[in-house]
Formats: sequence, C-alpha cells, structure tokens
Amino acid sequence: MLFKDIPGLESIKSTLIRSVQTSHLAHAQLFDSAPGGGGLALALAFSTYINCTNRSEEDSCGVCASCAKMNKLIHPDFHFIFPIATSKKIDGKTSEAFLSYWRSFILESPYRLLPEWLDYISAENKQGNIAVEEARGILRKLSVKAYEGEYKILLLWKPDIMNASASNALLKILEEPPFKTIFLLVSDQSDRLLTTIISRTQRIAVPAFSDKDVRTFLMDHTVSESTAKHITYLSDGNLSEALQLVKETGDDRSGWFIEWMRSCYKYDVAHLVKFADSFDGMNKEKQKGLLDYALRLFRDMLVWSHGAGELLRVPEEELTFVQNFSKAVNFESLENMIQEVNVAYYHIERNVRAKMVLLDLSLTIAHFFQRR
Ligand SMILES: [Zn+2]
Repeated sequence: MLFKDIPGLESIKSTLIRSVQTSHLAHAQLFDSAPGGGGLALALAFSTYINCTNRSEEDSCGVCASCAKMNKLIHPDFHFIFPIATSKKIDGKTSEAFLSYWRSFILESPYRLLPEWLDYISAENKQGNIAVEEARGILRKLSVKAYEGEYKILLLWKPDIMNASASNALLKILEEPPFKTIFLLVSDQSDRLLTTIISRTQRIAVPAFSDKDVRTFLMDHTVSESTAKHITYLSDGNLSEALQLVKETGDDRSGWFIEWMRSCYKYDVAHLVKFADSFDGMNKEKQKGLLDYALRLFRDMLVWSHGAGELLRVPEEELTFVQNFSKAVNFESLENMIQEVNVAYYHIERNVRAKMVLLDLSLTIAHFFQRR
C-alpha cells in the first residue's frame, strides 16, 4: 500500500512522511480512525515508507525489494497481530495460524471492519478476540534483530477488543519497547482502549473520508458517476460501507423508491400489491437497505420542509423529487411516515413476512398522502 493509493487525508500523510524524513519516529503510534476510515491503510503505507530503500519526498518507491515484500505483506521485519475466533476453516489459537487469510483479506481492501473479517474466516462467534498469549508472544516475534529493514514494525489491529490482561501485557511492552521497534496500533473504537495505552502512544486522529474522497475513490474503481454519487450519499465517509454497497448495487434504490412513492401517492393498490410481492422475493439485507434508504430520504425531506434545504446532501437527480415530495405532505405526516418505516424495519429484522410488512406500510403511507 502506497500513500497515493489512499484517497485524501493529505495532511496526515505529510505528517507521517515528515516524521520519517526527520527521524522523529515515535515508538508507539495509535491510528485512531473513524469506522471504515483510512487508519489501517495509512498504517500500511507508513510501514512501507519506513522501510523503503528508495523513498521520495511524497511516497515509497513501490518497486525496491522492501516495497515488493510489503506489497505482499511478507516483509520479514513486519508483523501483524489481529483478532481471531474459533473457526471451522482454520485451526489455531493465535493470529499466526490465520496469517495467510489475513493477508489476502487486507490485500483485497484495507478499508474493512471486524465483522467482515470474522465472516471471512467463517468465525463461529461474532466477537473476535486477541488473547493474552498473543500479547505476550509479541516479544518473541520481535526478539530477533531486524533482518532487512532498519526497523521492526508490529501492526496491531483492533487493540480495542483486548481484555484487561491482554491490554496489560501490551502495556508492559510499550513501557519498555525493544530497540528499533515501532508499534502501530490501529483502532476504530478508541473509546474502548485503556487510557494507559492511549497515554503510551502518539495519537494520530484519522477522520472519516470526505464525500469527495469517497466519490473519487469509487469512480477510480470503475463505479459509474451516478452510482458513485449515490453510494457516497449513503455511506457517510465510511469506505467499508461504500464498498459493500458497490457489491450490492445493481439494485437501483432511488428508482425503486420513487416508483413506490408514486404508487402510494396515486393509491394504486394493485401496483402496491405487486411491489410487495417483488419486495418479498428479495433477501433481508436488500429489504433493509431499501427501507434504510427510504428513512434517509424522508428525514432529508423533513429537513427540507423546515426550510433548512442547504443542509441536504441529496444527489442532484433526487433533489427535484425531494422538493416536490415535500410539497405533497405536511410535517406531521412526514414524521409519521418516518415512524412507520422504523416499525417496518423492526419487523423485517424480526422476520415478519416481508410482503405483509411492505403492503401494510404502503397503505399507511398512501393514507398520509390523502390527508394533507
Ligand atoms: Zn521502496
């Protein structure tokens, strides 16, 4: 991973680069990242940069022997610790046994969340854990002198899920670090870290990606401009979520929503029944995604009808629809609609028959239109 592969976050990148150039490398650094943010990607690019033998003022060279190994995450001076869980697929009690899976998981994309990782290894529970033995094993991993690079680097992903004994074992190491070793802690829930760990590290705050960065990133990865705009709007700077949405796309949420609302408005019961039928045939994630989308637009309409239209992040194509729709219902109805969609969402989550849920919701919404 090179810095240039990561969208935006320019000032953080230059701070990291400067710290290498001026040899002011803190031995323990905490990448305190927004969920789905650039924390892990930055830590990887930073590690690559630290050991690159031909780095420029902006980035690693990407081609030297060190970069080539970092590129595959097989550099002998670069170590990982990450959460694991019991898995039918993999037999092992420490992250070592999961390493090859971990490498391909991260090489696919470094903008990912713990549940995705646990899915990837077919974990039997949905927690994930970094055991105290793992923390103690850190010293063994680092006890040999750096083979090739100047520094040994240990990247610890999700220190926030460590229990007290593992955290304390880590703390001990951070207090008396081995020579020429750098610890990079990457967390997307730093509020769950022991304050003693936070105080032993240099904190690097990594904010969520900007809308522009998400959009550009998606368009650079062969997503069409209109879909990219759409997904950017839905993902709130969370690149992990944006990439998940790209996978699910194919479903045109806004088209679906607009057609649904038109049928409600016209009180076209026959069409609403058909709609409910097709909704019933979708998987639960997609059903929830559509209701989520409806909720978001309803909330935006509420904002719009309160005269705070400039706050909206609605993509241009939907703006006209939102404006017209807001004129067709009053505040109270809109608030009720939000309430009803929330109830429907709750029912879908609890496996109430989707067809009934959507038809019920459609008819309720149709009534609100009648009442304006
Ligand atoms: Zn290099």
